[in-house]
Amino acid sequence: MTILRDKFGRPMRDLRISVMDKCNFRCPYCMPAEIFGENYDFLKKDQLLSDDELVRLGELFAQLGVTKLRITGGEPLIRRNLDQIIRRWMAIPGIEDVAMTTNGYFLKPMAQKLKDSGLHRLTISLDSLDDEVFSQMNGARSSATRVLEALEEAQRVGFENIKINCVVKKGVNGHTVVDLARHFKGTGVIVRYIEYMDVGNINGWKLDDVVTADEIIAIINAEMPLVEVPPNYRGEVANRYQYADGTGEIGLIASVTRPFCGDCTRVRLSAAGEFYTCLFGKQALDLRTPLRDGSTDADVLQLISDVWSHRSDRYSERRTSFTELPTKGAEMFRIGG
Ligand code: SF4
Repeated sequence: MTILRDKFGRPMRDLRISVMDKCNFRCPYCMPAEIFGENYDFLKKDQLLSDDELVRLGELFAQLGVTKLRITGGEPLIRRNLDQIIRRWMAIPGIEDVAMTTNGYFLKPMAQKLKDSGLHRLTISLDSLDDEVFSQMNGARSSATRVLEALEEAQRVGFENIKINCVVKKGVNGHTVVDLARHFKGTGVIVRYIEYMDVGNINGWKLDDVVTADEIIAIINAEMPLVEVPPNYRGEVANRYQYADGTGEIGLIASVTRPFCGDCTRVRLSAAGEFYTCLFGKQALDLRTPLRDGSTDADVLQLISDVWSHRSDRYSERRTSFTELPTKGAEMFRIGG
């Protein structure tokens, strides 16, 4: 099989699939409540990719070299029959890994079903253990306790190496990053701190609001010494740091100060079937229409291949050269970060 490569020789390996645009949280850096009110016009059922369409696309992307699927949203656990879709994705030849990122709110009652579906890995978003701060970060939609209880249940049913994603915003939760590290040190859970990013066009991103990876490491290292270690594999987005006393590790996803576009093998699919070759991409390829207008698999494969082979995205590396931030094609909640 010829490996499909983009303009910089990068293969397509990781498909991040948003299965739902709705979310029950209102995180200001993704879905500010003042914009996404009760009457916001989210995708209707027939506008969402159906279960069969999601599986068909999984099969087609696997034929083009994708081996890893990451399920995102909005909040993916709002999608009905998700465990059934996961079982079908797991059965696709070439798909080696299926992971999911969730806000954890609905996870506790669903953990066993997800485990039984064969889901490999879980990442849970938790921006602070301080309920007041966490509430500020999720639009007052959940306590940290509820998320921690869901994490415990996920561990009880057998999920290992669970990761915590924490977006760090200066003046909001920058002062609580060490609490998360202290809480999960020695538990096998890996906290990944994410530099606040200008995803989409509505979160009012400013460079001044970024707590850099270096700053986060310095804060934690002062109390719990860290040692940088090599990535688990080429293209891993997080920089890894282990505790010097051997009791675990943290990760830094530093798209702003340490861009990682060089090895980017990620593509994104919105819940409406829009195919993006970059998180910050302007253009999308509509795949829902060819899935519904009788196009053959070969037609759809050709459409995807044409886009990928012309791909030259390196947004994060170019971000600081922009005098004005360019308009992005998709908001975070539509393509799931
Ligand atoms: S900015 Fe775009 S090209 Fe760079 S790592 Fe992120 S998704 Fe990949």
